[in-house]
Amino acid sequence: MPFTQLIFDLDNTLYPASRGVVDRVDDRINRYMIERVGIAPDAAAPLRARYRDAYGTTLSGLMRHHAIDPDDYLTAIHEIAVEELLAPDAALGAMLTTLAQPKAVFTNGSAGHAERVLSCLGIRTHFARIFSLESVAYVPKPERIAFETVLARLGAAGRDCVFVDDRPDNLATARALGMRTVLVGERSSAGDVPVDGAIASIHDLASLLARF
Ligand SMILES: [Mg+2]
Repeated sequence: MPFTQLIFDLDNTLYPASRGVVDRVDDRINRYMIERVGIAPDAAAPLRARYRDAYGTTLSGLMRHHAIDPDDYLTAIHEIAVEELLAPDAALGAMLTTLAQPKAVFTNGSAGHAERVLSCLGIRTHFARIFSLESVAYVPKPERIAFETVLARLGAAGRDCVFVDDRPDNLATARALGMRTVLVGERSSAGDVPVDGAIASIHDLASLLARF
């Protein structure tokens, strides 16, 4: 069955985790919790882990339990020098050009962060749509409602889509909605989560999709 939409996660999917972008965002999240929310320094890391497990993102926990403003949070945590970490990826652009389907980004980050990352990688023009955390009412992947919002905006059914992400929990929801799923990154398997394909690098996507 052919697919008509390609949906990509952003961070650690369109570039490797080793670039350190997510590490810098994580540092900013910790600082935000300590400096803006007033959480004790040694409590920040365990609380983040608890919020991520319970609600998908640290932001969801902070909104629920500390009434923080999500836009203030998203602006603060993404104030990192992405251009120091990412460079134009001509090979990725060339690979994307070979894929005729419309492409969207679906990220748990902010729209501004997505724009900066795609621009630094030199691939912004390949993506017709960007679905950021703001565009799904701050309800993150892997929540089903977030994926359903994206599908509705695309006018697509799950079976029309291929979804590419580095996190097995996100791929599990996508698969439950009928999408074909691709795990990208250093993990060679998604553990208990069945996937339709796994690639070490996003550069390998076109050759994998040729077999779908
Ligand atoms: Mg990711």
